Amino acid sequence: MGRVAKGVKCSVSSCGGEAMRSLSAEKVRAAGLKVGSERRAYLCKEHYKEYKKKTKKDKQLEQWRYKA
Ligand SMILES: [Zn+2]
Repeated sequence: MGRVAKGVKCSVSSCGGEAMRSLSAEKVRAAGLKVGSERRAYLCKEHYKEYKKKTKKDKQLEQWRYKA
């Protein structure tokens, strides 16, 4: 987890933006983003936003299910 060195590209296929975050590829895939088979995924600002949005939604769903 954490910051990424300069010059690293986003791992999402067809993106190629400058990565700013490094995450577990497994988690990123679980959020529905298309990344390669490496163990770490690098995300640009936009895809990190998308990732956060999707994981947030999942958490809300889990909470909702728990209450029901
Ligand atoms: Zn990207």
